Amino acid sequence: MALLDQLTTLDLIREKVEAGERLDFEDGVALLESDDLLALGELADLARRHRGGDDRVYFVQNLYLNQTNVCRVKCKFCAFAATQKQPGAYTISKEELVVDALRQRERTGFTEIHMVNGESPHVDFGFYVETTRALHEAMPDVHLKLYTASEIHHMSKLSGLPHEGVLRELRSAGLGSLPGGGAEIFADRVRRLVAPGKEHPDEWFDVHRTAHGLGIPTHCTMLYGHVETYEERIDHLIRLRDLQDETGGFLAFIPLAFHPENTVFERRGWRHTTGADDLKVIAVSRLLLDNVPHVKAYWIMMGLPMAQVALHFGANDVQGTVVREEIFQAAGASAGTEQKIGELVRVIRAAGRIPVQRDTLYNEVRRW
Ligand code: SF4
Repeated sequence: MALLDQLTTLDLIREKVEAGERLDFEDGVALLESDDLLALGELADLARRHRGGDDRVYFVQNLYLNQTNVCRVKCKFCAFAATQKQPGAYTISKEELVVDALRQRERTGFTEIHMVNGESPHVDFGFYVETTRALHEAMPDVHLKLYTASEIHHMSKLSGLPHEGVLRELRSAGLGSLPGGGAEIFADRVRRLVAPGKEHPDEWFDVHRTAHGLGIPTHCTMLYGHVETYEERIDHLIRLRDLQDETGGFLAFIPLAFHPENTVFERRGWRHTTGADDLKVIAVSRLLLDNVPHVKAYWIMMGLPMAQVALHFGANDVQGTVVREEIFQAAGASAGTEQKIGELVRVIRAAGRIPVQRDTLYNEVRRW
């Protein structure tokens, strides 16, 4: 694209942002096609501030748990899942899980448990309900953000209950919110290529819509940097925006960069997304998702230095202390599995922002 055209496109989009107008599909694609990275960052930050954002950058103290990596689905981008018979396959009992979580709680005082799993065909619905109940009873003041929409759909198949019935049972056992995983890229073409065994995206939307209807807040994600086109990324974001218009139940959007290590994509020579692409996706997400309050720069995936830069590209959350993340580690993420609060505070401050420790629902716990 010629420089003059680029300037014109970004200028037109800037006018829309300043006027509080919604960006459309063509705007989104044009933004992703722009190579003027700094202008994109500035525009995204402008949009964030125009919509009421300030200097606060959030993080939560959280513990990541994975109760089982046994999974029937075999997504091609996944380095985490195993079949029951593979070495390294595990399924942890609720008792062991609780003991482990309590030990971690003494050490870090987390306020949230984030847990996602493989879709094991070797457990029943009671496994999930009883695990939720056991965690809740052992730590009633900890927010339980458990199970992706794909897992909820899996439970629906295990139990014969509709999504609503599954969510109601989990909520009465102590579920607080849903993480955003399982969304990948919604376009059918991409799903057929990277996750042919996964349920149709309509199910993902049905789970989130149903959760929102029950007053259960959720998160939303996009796994980018594999086979998807710019158009398919924008289509994904607009579908999320449409549901948010309808329900208002998404707390935050988390873009997830694809990590090819230990997947079929590594053998085909695929490489990580570049820093430029990661920043572009953060900026364009912030610009397009005008109704989702928070965009996270997920440091475990992009590294803390890049997450710090992303705070100037529309992100206002760096996720959290993330004690013991395994899924991105299995796929080669090298940013570590835990971050101390002091380091998050230092990094946020050095970016010129105000560090705020939050709970899952974005209530302030402490401001530095
Ligand atoms: S991404 Fe989730 S559903 Fe897909 S194979 Fe991995 S664990 Fe299973």
